[in-house]
Amino acid sequence: MASTASEAIGHMAPAKPEHRSLETLEHSLYGGVLYGVEGRPIELQARYFGADAPGDAWRIHITGMAKGAINEVTGRLSGAFAKYGIPPMHGEILINLAPAGLPKEGTSLDLAIAVIVLQAAGYAPVLRPELGKSYFLIGEVSLHGEIRRINGALPIALCAKPGTTLIVPRGNEKECCMVRGLPEHASTRILVAETVQDVLRFMQGKSKLADAMRENPKFEGVLRPGPDFANIKGQELAKRAILIAAAGGHNVLMVGPPGEGKSLLASAFPGILPPLTNSEKIELTRLYSAKGLLNEDGLVVSRRPFRAVHHTASKQSLIGGGKGLPEPGEITLAHRGVLFMDELAEFSRGTLESLRQPIEAGCITVSRVDASFDFPAQFTLVAAMNPCPCGYFGQYICRDCLGYTYDQKAGCGRCSSVNVKPRCECKPTAVHTYRKKISGPILDRIDLHLELRPLSVDEKFAKNGGTSSAELRKLVSATRDIQQQRFGASGIACNAAIPGGEVAKWCLFATAGFDRYKAAISEGTFSTRATDRMAKVARTIADLEKREVIEEHHVQEAVDFLSGSPLA
Ligand SMILES: [Zn+2]
Ligand SMILES: [Zn+2]
Repeated sequence: MASTASEAIGHMAPAKPEHRSLETLEHSLYGGVLYGVEGRPIELQARYFGADAPGDAWRIHITGMAKGAINEVTGRLSGAFAKYGIPPMHGEILINLAPAGLPKEGTSLDLAIAVIVLQAAGYAPVLRPELGKSYFLIGEVSLHGEIRRINGALPIALCAKPGTTLIVPRGNEKECCMVRGLPEHASTRILVAETVQDVLRFMQGKSKLADAMRENPKFEGVLRPGPDFANIKGQELAKRAILIAAAGGHNVLMVGPPGEGKSLLASAFPGILPPLTNSEKIELTRLYSAKGLLNEDGLVVSRRPFRAVHHTASKQSLIGGGKGLPEPGEITLAHRGVLFMDELAEFSRGTLESLRQPIEAGCITVSRVDASFDFPAQFTLVAAMNPCPCGYFGQYICRDCLGYTYDQKAGCGRCSSVNVKPRCECKPTAVHTYRKKISGPILDRIDLHLELRPLSVDEKFAKNGGTSSAELRKLVSATRDIQQQRFGASGIACNAAIPGGEVAKWCLFATAGFDRYKAAISEGTFSTRATDRMAKVARTIADLEKREVIEEHHVQEAVDFLSGSPLA
């Protein structure tokens, strides 16, 4: 272990710094902070203010809306410096974090603060301004001088000026190497440091830091694949609805009794969406890094997310929020993937209402006293609910054998007895209240409704489920390509996103198809929104068949999905 400051950090600085000559010096270094789900570059500016009497503790004053852990850095640095045998300097160091008006949290600036303090105190070499600008320091400093990994390293690294040299903690280096996946960062370097001493010796030109790209970083997916449709038995109607939903970007509501595989079907959904592009993988990894969900280095979001939220989840955990700076919620973690809300009717009305903006806009604005952020939230909503509070509305139970049926006249499915009674024991008002909760705003944004029924005995014992997820994904990707060509530069992402006023422009009907569409509108009690949804779903069904115009049977299937719902 080093015994003196000069041995510890090299011989650039005298053991007793000449403060008087330093008073006029200006020091600048660069680092970054996490701001929402993005990084923001910060210029650290430091100045030394001399004092006549020697001090017995480090006096460091930080300005520029530093909050929480940033203000505790002084204590940690004192410990780290003591380990290196660096005595507190006389006087005070003032550090400003610019832009000063941006609130800053976290420990990502620790390393940059440590280095600039040592520079201002005269213990570390002062870099020429152009050289100072070429480095970007990231990392938390421990009491023992080690540089520790942080959450949000990727978003912070992404905000560095392209072409700079990032000095990052061991444990964040692979994550930071992801910036090299973007063309503008092709010449950005990523160097790894383990201690403050490593960084100082590097700046003095006394030793090198490991180049993270030369270490051939390996990456691993953080999200596990969901079940394959080939392994899901029965539920053909639900599978068809999910295929259409994936192909056209539609939201789905499954209504059915408990235990009929609603969660299983939903969790298989992301597996048939088109694979993520490289820039989408970086975008999602950035979000998961900001939320602190990458517990190890080298983890990336390589597949579309599936986030299941429980009805007891708070509105804040769903859409984002938190104390101080807002944090992203589940809908942002489901970005470009699937958000599954089971027991939809059990969610509070306020929570359901809060989903309106993100479903419509693909993003959510979360405001707190300190800041207001727009978080991305472009997800497919897969919702599930029971038809009534008890779950068995519409079913009949056999008085003779306790078998059940959905068809009162046909009788019991097991013994054919017509001596059946309704299985649901809910009061009509209770059923009404239960369903009313999700009506209106949220229901209007779900294009596909379907009723899930219990599997038949044959289905239960069937050998396999049919088409694999990989095959379905090919079909979905091809259908998305058709939509992309059609919408071109219009900014519309998929059929589900066709704006209300443009349905007629994009949904071209064959004569018979249009007649069927008009008939459905006049027969049913559909709202304007519902008829728009019907046209969009029919558009997707036609696209799945590679047909330019919407035919009668496309409309019929779309109508069935809408009117087949017990909630329509
Ligand atoms: Zn019931
Ligand atoms: Zn029976």
